[in-house]
This record gives sequence, C-alpha cells and structure tokens, in this order.
Amino acid sequence: MSLYRKSWLFMAWIMLLFITSPFWLFLPFVRWGLIGALPGAAFWLAHGAAALWLFRCPECGTSPFTTRIGFMAISHPWPRRSCSKCEQDLTV
Ligand SMILES: [Zn+2]
Repeated sequence: MSLYRKSWLFMAWIMLLFITSPFWLFLPFVRWGLIGALPGAAFWLAHGAAALWLFRCPECGTSPFTTRIGFMAISHPWPRRSCSKCEQDLTV
C-alpha cells in the first residue's frame, strides 16, 4: 500500500475520531471538568503528532501532510501526492 493511501486511511480514522469526539472528549469534560478531558486531549494531540512523525517520505523523511515553502513548512490535514521536498511520487 502506498504512503499516499495509508495517509488517507489515517485521515479517515481522524475524521471518525472527530465525529465521535462528543463521546470521548466532550462528555468527560462536562462530567469531570478539565481533568476528565486530559486523556482525550492527549489522545487527540498524539494523532496530530503521528500524522507528522510516523508518515514519512521514504527518500527524505518529510511528512506527506507538510508542504515546504523555502525554509518554512505548512501542515495540512490532506496528504500530498508527491513529496514537497524531493518530489518523490508517494502514490506508488
Ligand atoms: Zn521526500
């Protein structure tokens, strides 16, 4: 399976989590306050970190969720078809 397809599957999982967040994030927040929301918030932030650090271009290591513009980088929720740094095709 290509990195591009894996990235989209991960984004589908993220969207499922986002849709169900009233149950696993906001319901504990309403019941137990900020302490109740901390595990859900950590879980959510870990998914953002996973999108940037676990999905990497096999050539240069750049995330498909990142677009490099000069010395800056922009992160976005949709994966790129080709690497923004080395132009490697991520769909193969
Ligand atoms: Zn690359």
